[in-house]
Amino acid sequence: MTTYDAIIIGTGQAGPPLARRLAGAGMKVAIIERGRFGGTCVNTGCTPTKTLVASAYAVHMARRGAFYGFGAGDITVDMKRVKARKDEVAGASTRGVEQSLRSLENCTVYTGHARLKSEREVEVGNEILRAEKIFLNVGGRAAVPDIPGIDQIDYLTNSSMMEVDFLPRHLVVLGGSYIGLEFGQMYRRFGSQVTIVELGPRLIGREDEEVSREVAAFLGREGIDIRTNANCLKVSRKDSGVALQVSCEPGPIEVLGSHLLLATGRRPNTGDLGLERAGVKQDKRGYIEVDDQLKTNVPGIWALGDCNGRGAFTHTSWNDYEIVAANLLDGDHRRVSDRIAAYALYTDPPLGRAGMTEAEVRRSGRRALVGRVAMEDVSRAFEKGETEGFMKVLVDAESKQILGATFLGASGDEAVHCVLDAMYAKAPYTVLQRAMHIHPTVAEFIPTILGDLAPLS
Ligand SMILES: Cc1cc2nc3c(=O)[nH]c(=O)nc-3n(C[C@H](O)[C@H](O)[C@H](O)COP(=O)(O)OP(=O)(O)OC[C@H]3O[C@@H](n4cnc5c(N)ncnc54)[C@H](O)[C@@H]3O)c2cc1C
Repeated sequence: MTTYDAIIIGTGQAGPPLARRLAGAGMKVAIIERGRFGGTCVNTGCTPTKTLVASAYAVHMARRGAFYGFGAGDITVDMKRVKARKDEVAGASTRGVEQSLRSLENCTVYTGHARLKSEREVEVGNEILRAEKIFLNVGGRAAVPDIPGIDQIDYLTNSSMMEVDFLPRHLVVLGGSYIGLEFGQMYRRFGSQVTIVELGPRLIGREDEEVSREVAAFLGREGIDIRTNANCLKVSRKDSGVALQVSCEPGPIEVLGSHLLLATGRRPNTGDLGLERAGVKQDKRGYIEVDDQLKTNVPGIWALGDCNGRGAFTHTSWNDYEIVAANLLDGDHRRVSDRIAAYALYTDPPLGRAGMTEAEVRRSGRRALVGRVAMEDVSRAFEKGETEGFMKVLVDAESKQILGATFLGASGDEAVHCVLDAMYAKAPYTVLQRAMHIHPTVAEFIPTILGDLAPLS
């Protein structure tokens, strides 16, 4: 048995920076990884998908050449080259994470599947490691829905999509949420026929209805078929492809595609972690229960990142690391409940979100103000020829604090940070309203929106 001060399981977005902080503070640290270093974001999530989104955007803009006054001839997409570029970018990131950990003083890297043996012990291969502090950063993976026939067909997930170096003739995406929409739009732009099948009545059902409508409209204009309210799902092999039954009603009830991508959510990698041997509590879906400082019910064991169910993003996992490090090393009592929900959807145009949606504000029953501008009225968007979407900000009528923002449009993922930072500052909206922003930018319209607020009726 080897004894450490701290053991970290998983090298996702929280494990590696935590290893650096703990080792830097003089602790003897072990970090264990069973797959590729850097975890989901680096290998099968954010980094590769946003690299592919960039290729798809370039293709799309080339096709729009005539609109901008140039001709690019016949646009052909070399999927092997697209994948190679994605592999280069993601490969650099995973190598960077591994090298930085292997060269870290006071840190020993183990490769293999780790399992808790007790409250203080971890098994990896034939070795037993012991530490007073154990940090779980094991992340998650694609959930495979329990659909009749699913075990009889080949399907793709966000992970196996990373190996695709050809153009699927017809990609059927099951799941009209963030991951499904990003893949759906990029493959349409690469040249596939794409159908998105969603069980709910609209795409990205967590967003306001007008967001779902706009997103469906611009995806539809690009030629993506969208099938909502799907039910009675069943899959089978058909004509060397796949048939997805989407309804029990009479009529066209099957979508026939060459490939099926499952984008129906994520599940935590906790089933084979030995949590029960250490007495660590999980919820019904397998997420590890944590308190506001990410401690589990077992003193000395923390859970960070997607596996604790308190966030599902790279920035929430990174923020978890900051919270744990601040509490342990800096005497700074940071808490999960201090953070404001923020995320983006990387369709084109992107959706940038901060705080509450309009539906959430309405449900809260508070008196609120709302301001809105269509992207076609935003000069920078007009000049760029990217006028789809809108920007909306919600304000508490009494406190004047900003409750939330939804920026669906060119640079919406960046511009929303102006609002997010004002929310963290707990500043009244008038501070942002009086700020002089740079022309011509998308963000310059934030003061304009805030100068024209109306009661939320
Ligand atoms: C397609 C897709 C696109 C995404 N895009 C974005 C985006 O644009 N922006 C964003 O913020 N988020 C995005 N996400 C989410 C983001 O990738 C995750 O939230 C992020 O990676 C945080 O993960 P994590 O730190 O919890 O762990 P992960 O990154 O999942 O890493 C966990 C690591 O633990 C290892 N591990 C698991 N179990 C064990 C074990 N028992 N022993 C040893 N090692 C183990 C795994 O191999 C893995 O390397 C995306 C996700 C997907 C799937």
